[in-house]
Amino acid sequence: MDLVNTFGLSEDQLMVRRNVLELLGRALPWPRIRELDEKGEFPHEAYDALARAGYLGLFYPEGLGGMGGTHKDFTSLIETLGYYYTGIAQAVMTTVVYAGMHVVKFGSPEVQKEFVPKIISGEIKLALAMSEPGTGSDVANIGTTAVRDGDDYVIDGQKIWITCAHVADYIVLVCKTDARADRHKGVSILLVPAKAPGVTIRPLKMLGRRTTHANEVFFDGVRTPARLLLGAENGAWRNLMTCLALERLCLASISAGHCFKITEYASDYARNRVQFGHPITDYQAVSHKLVDMAIMAETARQSVYRVADLMDGGQDAVREVSMAKIVCTENNFRCADLGLQVMGGAGYSTEYDMAMFFRDSRVGPIGGGANEIQRNVIARQMGF
Ligand SMILES: Cc1cc2nc3c(=O)[nH]c(=O)nc-3n(C[C@H](O)[C@H](O)[C@H](O)COP(=O)(O)OP(=O)(O)OC[C@H]3O[C@@H](n4cnc5c(N)ncnc54)[C@H](O)[C@@H]3O)c2cc1C
Repeated sequence: MDLVNTFGLSEDQLMVRRNVLELLGRALPWPRIRELDEKGEFPHEAYDALARAGYLGLFYPEGLGGMGGTHKDFTSLIETLGYYYTGIAQAVMTTVVYAGMHVVKFGSPEVQKEFVPKIISGEIKLALAMSEPGTGSDVANIGTTAVRDGDDYVIDGQKIWITCAHVADYIVLVCKTDARADRHKGVSILLVPAKAPGVTIRPLKMLGRRTTHANEVFFDGVRTPARLLLGAENGAWRNLMTCLALERLCLASISAGHCFKITEYASDYARNRVQFGHPITDYQAVSHKLVDMAIMAETARQSVYRVADLMDGGQDAVREVSMAKIVCTENNFRCADLGLQVMGGAGYSTEYDMAMFFRDSRVGPIGGGANEIQRNVIARQMGF
């Protein structure tokens, strides 16, 4: 990874970056990644190693056993994970941010004390269940319901595309607790044991990110204790938006890291590939592609650190986080597409890693609120 251009990272942040890359080199050697990708298996060894080293708590409050890191600390960590392998970055961010932020920010003090240390130690994993077969971009239109019955809620409904639900111990469920309430009202978030009676999880085969694949999740009369409500009953919409902004920052950071990996990989190949008696990097048509990839990687990185700085300064950065998500995820896929072209037939072959990079990069513009929706957000912010 380009450690020379530190982009204002502190010595501590650079040390974390170096240590994480070393740790992953041991816990998740590259042949193992290819094997896990082939089998669609979760990277348990690497996840557990990161947990043992304390990195899952980097962004969590010290009072709950975390390190109290800043947005920039966290962004740098996720970018590093995304550089090493997008699957391990996705695994960490799904539990720690996507789902875990709801527990850390909006769980009762008792729920925080019970669950946060277990998240940090890797004892439990989480998934966030929001999307449904009938509604993806239009999250406010969800139909899964939770009805209060004594000390429990009883849940019925169906979710789809739920990353890592198959390895999750708990599902952070977005549902309606007042089915008659209009759209953004009546929305609540509950922590639901993933192995509770009535929960059925069905793995789905996806194009990329196969080690953290999506799942269908069915809820049929599932009971969860009312004390596991995260935030106010019927009042979780704003909380959902807060956590989605952090998710977008993470998705952007993963993509920024991945741009660097793809650029390095394609450059190494091109330097060693000789055609017409010259390394193909001697041909401007090739070197300019590699230059464009390097520019896209650097632009992506700059956009995520800008958002992290704004958030560390107390701003919600709604517009900037949507912009960073668009820039990073679209640069990521364009880098993969160009990298594949630079490698010719080798890029298209599964014998090389580029084909996996290409598959893994395609989800960025879709997940975490599709980029069309991010453009709608920016348009609204611009008053259109
Ligand atoms: C690999 C993967 C993992 C995922 N993980 C999770 C997860 O863990 N948890 C979870 O809850 N969800 C998850 N999702 C779901 C993801 O959030 C949705 O796929 C995404 O929000 C888009 O919803 P949709 O697929 O239903 O597409 P649709 O909403 O049907 O949209 C289809 C197309 O229409 C466009 N479109 C829709 N409405 C508008 C509009 N108003 N203006 C302009 N364009 C519009 C969209 O941008 C898109 O291009 C995951 C998805 C994928 C692919």
